[in-house]
Amino acid sequence: MNKLKTSFQTLCVSERKDNKSNDPHQLPIYATSSFKMESTDDAIDIFTGKKKGHAYGRYGNPTIDTVAQKIADLEGYGLEMDTYCYLTSSGMSAISTLIYSLAKSGDAVLTQGNLYGGTTELLKNVFSNHGINSYFIDFDDTDGIKGFIKSHPDVKIFYIETPTNPTLACIDLQKINKIAKEFNLITILDNTFCTPYIQQPLKFGIDFVIHSTTKYLNGHGNSIAGAIVGHRVDFQKQIWTTLKLIGSTCNPWDAWLINNGLKTLALRMDKQCSNAMFIAQELSKMKVIKKVNYNGLQDNKYHEIAKKQMNQFGGMLSFEVGNNIYDAKIFIDHLQICTHATTLGDVDTLVLHPATSSHLNVDKQVRESYGITDNLVRMSVGIEDKDDLLNDIKQAISYIN
Ligand code: PLP
Repeated sequence: MNKLKTSFQTLCVSERKDNKSNDPHQLPIYATSSFKMESTDDAIDIFTGKKKGHAYGRYGNPTIDTVAQKIADLEGYGLEMDTYCYLTSSGMSAISTLIYSLAKSGDAVLTQGNLYGGTTELLKNVFSNHGINSYFIDFDDTDGIKGFIKSHPDVKIFYIETPTNPTLACIDLQKINKIAKEFNLITILDNTFCTPYIQQPLKFGIDFVIHSTTKYLNGHGNSIAGAIVGHRVDFQKQIWTTLKLIGSTCNPWDAWLINNGLKTLALRMDKQCSNAMFIAQELSKMKVIKKVNYNGLQDNKYHEIAKKQMNQFGGMLSFEVGNNIYDAKIFIDHLQICTHATTLGDVDTLVLHPATSSHLNVDKQVRESYGITDNLVRMSVGIEDKDDLLNDIKQAISYIN
């Protein structure tokens, strides 16, 4: 074809190809909503899946797909299975998209009472309106779980979070998986607190892992996104169809930020885990601290389960300060290095008061039954110098009478 001569205005609008095209060292952000088709035949082949290629940003994008594959590889690391991953617009959309993909009206979700508050609300206030009920029971009681499933044939999905937020209770994955397989239930596990560096649920037979990548996978507190990871091809098409049609896909900028964070995941987590262990041990010695929830401590109720299924004990802990809500507030308000913020898994140390934030809408009696007392403080330990953190904690405690 002869090259057409164009006007200045048309030249402004036109897209160009870089003609010095060796590969960039770092993954670029593909800020494009669509992809050029070389020909109509090429377009048909891409749309029908005969040829690999991108068409439209909501269906995939080189930045998003590259990061998703990396997370799939990390969750499946060392396991003899092919894993896939879809990035989503948030951790909540990973959970909702996956449940919408797997359950239909009349099916039910079986889960624990001590889930992340947002997930509890999603199950109770959103899915219930669409005929998908949820049952909240104690996952420590294996016999109780079996009895419950036998009398509730509508249960289709087992939804698990371990360790739990904010009390770090652990659920025995080997036991749960055995029950799930016996009753042919689909298992989903929220691995946000651990990341695959510390815990690989797929190794224990869990079907799907979800992440709020907003937390440790990103690690720097600068993006909101989520991930669905699986290996079962029998559900893959349905998940993909639901995701692209609901439109809860991730965007390239957030995917790119996750990619940056992933590079230092192991380094960050090693330091966060060792700092958390140090802080937990030091807090355990203090009179004003009434209880420390950290499953790395040998006397912790969940220590043995944690040892069995986690490579390290994680960077999260919680503890009761003084005797009441006022003591917890005094402590939090006097911290100078640790920041009071509603997230976790960042490189800097963060604290949160569950009773007045994440569990504000949970009945006091219910939350207290799970150990979420008025004086409980949650800490996401960062990578700072451990002695600086301890000094900060000590000086904030000194304000409590
Ligand atoms: N799962 C856990 C364990 C969480 O802590 C959170 C958020 O705090 C979520 C899921 C939801 O993630 P996002 O805020 O990215 O939607």
